[in-house]
Amino acid sequence: MLVNAKEILNKAKDGKYAVPHFNINNLEWTRFILEECENNNSPVILGVSEGAAKYMGGFNVVSAMVKELDKSLSIHVPVVLHLDHGSSVESAEEAIDNGFTSVMIDASKYDLDTNINMTKQVVEYAKSHNVTVEAEVGHIGGSEDGVSSELAYAKVEDAVRLYKETNIDFIAPALGSVHGIYKGEPKLDFDKMKEIALLTNIPLVLHGGSGIDDEKIRKAVESGICKVNINTELQIVWSNAVREFVKVDNAYDPRKIIKSGEEAMKKEIKDKIELLGSLNKA
Ligand SMILES: [Zn+2]
Repeated sequence: MLVNAKEILNKAKDGKYAVPHFNINNLEWTRFILEECENNNSPVILGVSEGAAKYMGGFNVVSAMVKELDKSLSIHVPVVLHLDHGSSVESAEEAIDNGFTSVMIDASKYDLDTNINMTKQVVEYAKSHNVTVEAEVGHIGGSEDGVSSELAYAKVEDAVRLYKETNIDFIAPALGSVHGIYKGEPKLDFDKMKEIALLTNIPLVLHGGSGIDDEKIRKAVESGICKVNINTELQIVWSNAVREFVKVDNAYDPRKIIKSGEEAMKKEIKDKIELLGSLNKA
């Protein structure tokens, strides 16, 4: 069942757990993620970056694929189809027009007034289509999908302004997490996290969830994080398994090659569901 993210994230906020956001890259990944979340009765957010959408043939293709897989695999858990790091108002609107149920507008590289202004436009369009909106404040560091940025911690007052002036559904304040592989220990600012959660009273999102140790993830969830974005970790477990497979088996059937990462990926998905507390929360 495709839904927007409002209800599942508000439920997570009340129940003090987080919903996993897994990035998808192709049909097989989508199937593995949907099946494993169904197996664990966990709600799930399928994150699609602009690069991944382009790779798969466009927002319309991704949307049709997810909707049809949801049906043919008889998925009963709530599934959110979410644009990850939408870079422009037009891109977010295009995703909405093509059936995405949730979008992120990431105008964090602009000054706060521009960020608020762009976010407002997306919220206005999204609300009229029953679509939820996430926005970012501060800069999540690192590199994802060919886009890099320096980490800059969000200011509490900026997060509060972004929320109050736009009426977004959930917010991603950069508080020490980065995309991709961490260089050194991540230093998450849990005090600011709690303060932003308290002052906005909306679910918070943790980007760059790969490579943060379990203890810190649990503490983040206690501090108001209700959605954790996981991308790199799935890429690593999948590619390691595939690499092992092609080493021993001189396979050339693409189905066998792609599928050889299925078991490892599903195990990782299950581990994340247990860590975030979304098991049986569908
Ligand atoms: Zn991100």
